[in-house]
Amino acid sequence: MTRALMPGFSIDFQSATPAPRRVPSLGRVLLATLLSCACALASAETVTEALDDLDQHGYASPLLAMQRLQAASARPDAAAPVAQQLRYHSMLALLAIHGKHKRELDAALVQIKGLADGGRCQPCGPHLLALRIGRADVNNERAAVKPLVDQLAALPPAADLRYEAERLGALARGNALLDEEEQALDLGVRAVEAASRAGLPAAEARLMNALARVHFARSDMASALRVTQDSYALAERIGFRFVMAQSRVNQNYAYGTLGQGDKEYQALREVLRITNGTPGTEALEEIAQSNLSAYHIHRGEYPQAISATLAAEQLARRLGDDIGLAFALSNRGSALARSGRVDEGMALMKQGMAQAEKAGGRREVLDLLSEQVNVLERVGRDREALAALRKWVKLSGDITSAEREKAVLELQEKFSAERKTREIERLSLQNARSQAEVTAHALKQRLWAALAVVLLLSAALLVQWLRRVRRRNRALVVDNAALASQSIHDPLTGVFNRRHFEQLMGQQEATVHGRSRDRHYQAAVGLLLLDVDHFKRINDTYGHAAGDEVLKVVAARLSSLVREQDAVVRWGGEEFVLVLPGTSAEGLPIIAAKALSALAREPVKHEGREITVRASAGAIAWPAWPDQKWMDAVHMADLALYLSKTGGRNRATCFLRLREGADLSRVHGDLGAAAEAGEVELQMVPGPA
Ligand code: GH3
Ligand code: MG
Ligand code: MG
Repeated sequence: MTRALMPGFSIDFQSATPAPRRVPSLGRVLLATLLSCACALASAETVTEALDDLDQHGYASPLLAMQRLQAASARPDAAAPVAQQLRYHSMLALLAIHGKHKRELDAALVQIKGLADGGRCQPCGPHLLALRIGRADVNNERAAVKPLVDQLAALPPAADLRYEAERLGALARGNALLDEEEQALDLGVRAVEAASRAGLPAAEARLMNALARVHFARSDMASALRVTQDSYALAERIGFRFVMAQSRVNQNYAYGTLGQGDKEYQALREVLRITNGTPGTEALEEIAQSNLSAYHIHRGEYPQAISATLAAEQLARRLGDDIGLAFALSNRGSALARSGRVDEGMALMKQGMAQAEKAGGRREVLDLLSEQVNVLERVGRDREALAALRKWVKLSGDITSAEREKAVLELQEKFSAERKTREIERLSLQNARSQAEVTAHALKQRLWAALAVVLLLSAALLVQWLRRVRRRNRALVVDNAALASQSIHDPLTGVFNRRHFEQLMGQQEATVHGRSRDRHYQAAVGLLLLDVDHFKRINDTYGHAAGDEVLKVVAARLSSLVREQDAVVRWGGEEFVLVLPGTSAEGLPIIAAKALSALAREPVKHEGREITVRASAGAIAWPAWPDQKWMDAVHMADLALYLSKTGGRNRATCFLRLREGADLSRVHGDLGAAAEAGEVELQMVPGPA
């Protein structure tokens, strides 16, 4: 349909009516004047010479040819022979038709009518009819065509082959306008033959090219191509540039219809090359630009299409070519709409349509309508497309009412089917979407459920883990307590071990020395070091287990003896220490006596045997003098214990006090001697017998 935007053949059979509304531009007038002057001055060309040359070589444009004739010398006046006048005015009229110069056409026809009316010109009347068919075509006066054709067809052939060729050409044009294509074809071919026989190659080329229109109407593109190739070849041979360009325009149309894009484009480029800068070829240029835009639209090259339509529009406005303007506007609209600017594009297309309707171009209106349908369909505006199609069908006189109805029904069917398809697509899309939503929802629910399970499991595991941790902690506390207990107790006897004793004494030291610095200090911690007598012998006599048993009993008896704040410590082997906070030196003999008698109270029973237990002890109240270290106190107690052992065992030696100014080294060196020297005061406490 895009190809039909090309009104290429409308210029092929130019026809008559006066006064072109288009005023040539100043530049063009100047150029034409210069050319005319140049011709006149250079060759002093006569009209006859010019006419002969135009017959043999054609012209670059009808406008230039008309100006050439008007500038020629010896133009035939009213006194000139009728044949000369007719030839001159006929050529002007044919040129005016060819170039759609209505005013010049009317002027020429007035002259010829004058000749015909004068009664002295036999071919003038029939030739005037032929030219009037051309004018009806140029002026788009279809109604005028039929009577003219009928009249002309009723006349006998012209005697002069020149006018016979034009008569046949006009009849072909008329029949083509009346859609009598077979007739038109036959007449067209005969017109070409007549021109050929008349030795008028320019007319032959022009009429041959005109045949393309009939082939187009018959959709016979191959023949159209062949005939335009022939017309081009002939025009090129004689230098008839205008027909060369016209032939290329028609070839462009044929190639476009045949889908031969490259050749279609090449033909257009050639049209523009041939016409370039030639006054009077604007109509061809305009068509070329218009078709160039159609070509680009077809290829989706919208920016190029738009610039071509703008060029075409400018030319159409200059030429006052309403139909051309209609195509230019519509094509630009089409390009815009197809490139996405739908509303803007449709507005232009409608403007183009209104323009075509105003110009009365029935076929063009149909072409533009069908392009509207294409565009609307393409951009998915089905309802508007259908409306445009209905209008197209209504306007199309080629379709019977039955066919019309069928076409409308089919179209409606098609559009409702398309709508249905779209609806189905929409629904299935919706369905798919809600399905997806349901799936997503289910997935989400499952996810939440899984998460809940995981959380519950985690919580359960956490609780379990916490319980286990708590249990383990509890066990640890117990274990730690046990360990702590183990670490400070002697495993055999259950009393404190030596390490704990050291800790105890360390803790006591600050308190003890704090007090000892006081003027009224008094001993704070009584220490009684006690050693089982002849224990080795017990082991040896009763066995090691018996020895152990003795140790346990000794520890128990000592423990039962002491107060809450006191401590019983296994110092090592069969030696024990009683730690007696608050026991002063004065209290030592008492506690020592108690301890010795407690141990000796009754023999230790082991495996039915009774073991007599006695012990020796040394006691001191620490600190025995200011700043005495507890280690030193223990050492003194040990010295005192030694005195008990050496003194006969089963006794306790109590360190009561240090004489003021006593020699401590002497005391440390030999406690017994120091006592004898009165350096220290000791008290011996005997054990039970
Ligand atoms: P003394 O009267 O001079 O103190 O003589 P003793 O035999 O009591 O002292 P000695 O130091 O000669 O011997 C102590 C013995 O105690 C040596 C050792 O085998 C024993 N002994 C040390 N610890 C234990 C123990 O835990 N259990 C047993 N059954 N014997 C021990
Ligand atoms: Mg010992
Ligand atoms: Mg001993």
